[in-house]
Amino acid sequence: MASTVVPEAPPGQQQWQRDGARRVAIVGGGASGMLTAIHLLASRSHDLRVTIHEASGVLGRGIAYGTTDPRHLLNVRSRHMSAFPDIPSDLVEWAARTGREPDAQAFLPRRDYAAYLTETLERLADDRLAVSPTRVDDVVAVPGGFEVHSAGEATRAEAVVLAYGNQTPARLEAGGQPLPDAPWHLADPWDVERIAALPADATVVLAGSGLTAVDTAITLLDDAPGRRVVMASRQGLLPEPHIEQSSTAWLSPVPVSGPVTADQLAELFRGQVEAARRQGVDWRAVVDGLRAPTQSLWQRLGPAEQRRFLASYAREWEVRRHRMAPGVADRIAAYRTEGRLELVAGGVRAVEDHGRRCEVHLAERPDSVWADAVVNCTGPLTDVSRTADPLLATLVRRGTLAPDELRLGVTCTPDGEVLDVSGQPVPGLFVVGPPRKGTLWETTAVPEIRAQAATLAHLLPEVCRSAG
Ligand SMILES: Cc1cc2nc3c(=O)[nH]c(=O)nc-3n(C[C@H](O)[C@H](O)[C@H](O)COP(=O)(O)OP(=O)(O)OC[C@H]3O[C@@H](n4cnc5c(N)ncnc54)[C@H](O)[C@@H]3O)c2cc1C
Repeated sequence: MASTVVPEAPPGQQQWQRDGARRVAIVGGGASGMLTAIHLLASRSHDLRVTIHEASGVLGRGIAYGTTDPRHLLNVRSRHMSAFPDIPSDLVEWAARTGREPDAQAFLPRRDYAAYLTETLERLADDRLAVSPTRVDDVVAVPGGFEVHSAGEATRAEAVVLAYGNQTPARLEAGGQPLPDAPWHLADPWDVERIAALPADATVVLAGSGLTAVDTAITLLDDAPGRRVVMASRQGLLPEPHIEQSSTAWLSPVPVSGPVTADQLAELFRGQVEAARRQGVDWRAVVDGLRAPTQSLWQRLGPAEQRRFLASYAREWEVRRHRMAPGVADRIAAYRTEGRLELVAGGVRAVEDHGRRCEVHLAERPDSVWADAVVNCTGPLTDVSRTADPLLATLVRRGTLAPDELRLGVTCTPDGEVLDVSGQPVPGLFVVGPPRKGTLWETTAVPEIRAQAATLAHLLPEVCRSAG
C-alpha cells in the first residue's frame, strides 16, 4: 500500500473481533470516507472501531483530489473547505503550518487537499482505526450487522457507510451510438497521465464543458502551445468564475413550507438577483445564500417538479453554483483569445473511427474536426442500475440498493440511511456524499459532506449499540 502511517487492517481487526467493541466499516477512502472517519475518531465514542476500505490503497484522494496536476485547483475557497464545520480555519491553519498558501480566500491545488485530509486523519488516528487497502466486493446483512467481503475475506461490522463516491462517466454516445474502444477514445477524464501524454500538436475534442472539461483543457493547453481543444456540450456553457465578493451570502426569503415548483424557484432566483443588483450586490451572493435552503427546497419540489428543474434549469444553475477559481478562469479566457480553445454548443453528433484518429461531427457546425482524441467529460455516471462497479451491481441486484426516481443516486433518507428496493430502511447501512444526490441535490461538495459526516458520527454509536 502507498504511504500512510495509519495501521492496516488485519492485525487490528482480528483484535477487535475479540474485544467486544462496536465496528463501523467505511467503503471508500476518498473525501467522503475520510471525513466520516475523521468525525468518528474526533467524537468521544471510545468503544467504536473504524475500518476504511480503499480500493486504490491510497487514502484521501478519490477522484477529485487524486489529480497529479498542480494546476487543478479547488473550486471552493480554503475558508469553506475545513474538515470541521465548527472550525472553519482548520484548513487555512494547516496550509500555514505546511508552507502552503495560507490565505483563507485562496483556491489550493486539489492534490494538497488530499494531503490535508490524510494528515488530519493521522492526527486523530489511534488503535480505533484500521485501513484495509482492498476493494469491497459485497456487503451482506446478517443478524446484528453486516459481513463485509473483500480480498477473499469477510469481516463483521455493526454499521457500514458506503462512501463509493463518483463513478466514471457512462460510455459516451454520439447520434445514439456508443463510441468504440479505440486509441483516440479517452473514456476516463480523470486519467491525467494519459491525457498529458497526448501528442504536443494534438487536436482534442472534449465532450462536456463543465469543471472536468476545464481541468482537461488546462492539462492539455498549458504545456503544449501546439495543441488545440474543442469543447462541445449541449448548451455550450462554461462554469462562471468566482470573483472577490464584498458580501458572502445574500439571504433570500424562500417560501417557508409547502410544495414549490421549479418555475417558482427560477422566478425567486431572478427576483433576488435583481434585488441584490439594485443594492450593488453580485448575483454570486444570491447563489451562495440559496445554498443553505437548497436541500429542503429540493425535497419540497417533489419528483415531477424535480424532473422539470433538471430539464429546464439545472445546467444554468450548475454553471453558477459550481464556479471556477479566478486564476483558472483567466487561463481559459486566454486560450480562447489565442484561438487554441473553442467552445461549441450542440454537442457531438457523430464520430467516425479512422484508426489512430477520428472525425468528429458537431451538431451545430457544418465542418467536421479531425481529432487525435475525444475525452468524455460528461460527468460521473449516477444511475446505479447501469453501473459496472461489482459491489454496486451486486447490491442493486439483491435489492439492497435502488436508484432514486431521477437516477441521480440511491434511495435513502436525508440522513443517508439506505432504503431498499421496497422502500424499507436497511438498518445500519448508510451512504454519504454523492449517492445522496437524488434525495438532497446539494450533497457532492465538502461543505455538505463534512456536515453529513458529523451527523453520522453522532448517529452511528447508537446505531451500533442497537444492532449488537
Ligand atoms: C474532478 C472533481 C473536482 C472536484 N472539486 C471539488 C472542490 O474543489 N471542492 C469541493 O467541495 N468539491 C469538489 N468536488 C466534489 C466531490 O464530489 C467531493 O468533494 C468529494 O471529493 C467526493 O468524494 P467521495 O469520497 O464521495 O468520492 P470519490 O472521490 O469518488 O472517492 C470514492 C473512493 O471510494 C473508493 N471505492 C469505491 N468503491 C469501493 C469499493 N467497493 N471498495 C473500496 N473502495 C472503493 C474509490 O477508490 C475512491 O477512492 C469535485 C468533484 C470532482 C469529480
